[in-house]
Amino acid sequence: MPEEASSATRNAAKVERLAKQATADAIAGKAQAQAEYLGSVPSRARGIIERAFAGTATPRGAIKAKCLDCCGFNRAEVAGCTVVRCPLWSYRPFQNARKGVVEPPGSEF
Ligand code: SF4
Repeated sequence: MPEEASSATRNAAKVERLAKQATADAIAGKAQAQAEYLGSVPSRARGIIERAFAGTATPRGAIKAKCLDCCGFNRAEVAGCTVVRCPLWSYRPFQNARKGVVEPPGSEF
């Protein structure tokens, strides 16, 4: 019986080691994937995407980052999004643009 308990303890330790390694691999993969993605983001939107990745964006900023990503960084497309089934639809940014409110040119995302 003690031998079985010892085997179970070794297996548990092995599972824990594998889980830690998997987490480390996932984090390394995440950083690389995010860095590659950022290379394709227009410079005007890079800040909001970086803050979202870092977890420092506000919830509103994170929604803006997602909507911009979803619409190829085109504000008008976000404003005119018709995907009403999307849980973010009511929160999407740039809705004022549809109401005629003009944002200054070059303003940051
Ligand atoms: S609200 Fe529209 S633009 Fe924003 S994530 Fe959903 S589908 Fe994409």
